[in-house]
Amino acid sequence: RRHVRVCEGTSCFASTGGEHVRDLERVLGVRRDTCASDGSVSLQAVRCLGYCYDSPAVLDGDRPATGRDLGGLLDGSVGAADGSAASLRTPPPIPYESRVDPPVVLAGLLGVEGEWEVWPAVVTGGSPERVNREIAASGLRGRGGAGFPTAKKWAMAASEPGPRYVIANGDEGDPGSYCDRLLMEQDPHRVLEGLALAAFATGAHHGLVLVRSEYPAAVHRMRAAVAEARAGGHLGRRIHGSGFDFDVEVVEGAGSYVAGEETALMHAVSGLRGDARPRPPYPTSKGFLGRPTVLNNVETLAAVPWVVRHGGAAYARLGHPDEPGTKLVCLSQLFRRPGVYEVEYGVPLRHLVQELGGGLRDGRSLRAVQVGGPLGGFLTPEQLDLPLLTRPLAQAGVPLGHASLIAFDAAVPAAAVLRHEWAFGAAESCGACTPCRVGTRRGLELAERIGEPGQAAVLAQQEPLLEVLDMASLCAFGRGVAGAVRSVTRAYADELPGPAA
Ligand code: SF4
Repeated sequence: RRHVRVCEGTSCFASTGGEHVRDLERVLGVRRDTCASDGSVSLQAVRCLGYCYDSPAVLDGDRPATGRDLGGLLDGSVGAADGSAASLRTPPPIPYESRVDPPVVLAGLLGVEGEWEVWPAVVTGGSPERVNREIAASGLRGRGGAGFPTAKKWAMAASEPGPRYVIANGDEGDPGSYCDRLLMEQDPHRVLEGLALAAFATGAHHGLVLVRSEYPAAVHRMRAAVAEARAGGHLGRRIHGSGFDFDVEVVEGAGSYVAGEETALMHAVSGLRGDARPRPPYPTSKGFLGRPTVLNNVETLAAVPWVVRHGGAAYARLGHPDEPGTKLVCLSQLFRRPGVYEVEYGVPLRHLVQELGGGLRDGRSLRAVQVGGPLGGFLTPEQLDLPLLTRPLAQAGVPLGHASLIAFDAAVPAAAVLRHEWAFGAAESCGACTPCRVGTRRGLELAERIGEPGQAAVLAQQEPLLEVLDMASLCAFGRGVAGAVRSVTRAYADELPGPAA
């Protein structure tokens, strides 16, 4: 049976306004999230496939097609009947570049540093205390969005009785971010080396790499890298003749956004339903299989070998005093030069948009930019002097999140953007708590009435929903949806006249 996944993540949405999903439904003869009556083809709408630099995107089986190639699928030349994806072109590789000299997270990809150059000396002659000291001195924080200090997380897990586990979170569910896919597919050994160093520092002997199912190539590449690392003596028993054992298993994700949240992820990898749960207990004391677990994002782990090699002080000199280090920022398809850029914290957003992205393609004008993913927020072009830093952005009502940027031009009306945000919330709410499960659906119903007479009244009804989501949601997802919706009403205030957000 042919299974097609179509991306309706934010970059794909910004590039077509959602037209590509409707066109695909027409060409394949099935509605989204259904299968044909004869069972020959099914179409699943997913929130991101990680091809935001060449949107829109589909996965036909495990074969991706993006951008112009999607036209081949859409115009019927690769129709439902032939059951073959052979004529679909592989999308172009992810463009990447470091604006940090020397590069840190991209050091391996740019050929500046090799694979497993730090690990052998650490595991045979180093001490966990030294690794922990360097990570603490670096000021490294989680790059997945929450920004928790890495050294503190490791110390919390290490203080609990074993056995302990370490997990690389490659469940990059945030539309707009594809740097984890880049690292897992093209520099998987750097991620594994970071995970091994985390295991050594915390006394863990078993690790997992969770890769989202929407990234089939990354699943394949990570599994191959684990086998290569075992063959090279970097993983397994008595690594490099030391007394340290550590092995890694690659696990495919459950295809849900919330399953990337740490408590939900612990459930999912433990074989349970991927629902979030209240904290405490934190995963550092009760995580995978109920044991102390360190969960770090892929990008965070990819920085660890550099920090251990060059020292925490060298890393801390990069970036901004409030937020040291570097960040991989992904720019979406509407930019003239989309791709993954390594930059230091503190650069103005305008630098990312103008200097790196080159403005928008085809002479288009920037209407708004979404920073930090679906739970981040929208900013106007006038706000681009804000720096890439958590606090100033939070003061502007925008969480930094994964720090990637999705550009919107005027082709997508404000009402559609608002609907998109609510639709994302309704589709990805795990349903464990009522405010979010019901609130996001009610918000979507309201958003679908925008553009009808009485729009201001509809927007007014949105307010109490946002308050409930803010105050009563069980996990950060519900609060994040509320914040993102508010940012849309602010950034598009001229098109969405209603109560002040
Ligand atoms: Fe699930 Fe939403 Fe509640 Fe989080 S806020 S637990 S995603 S229903």
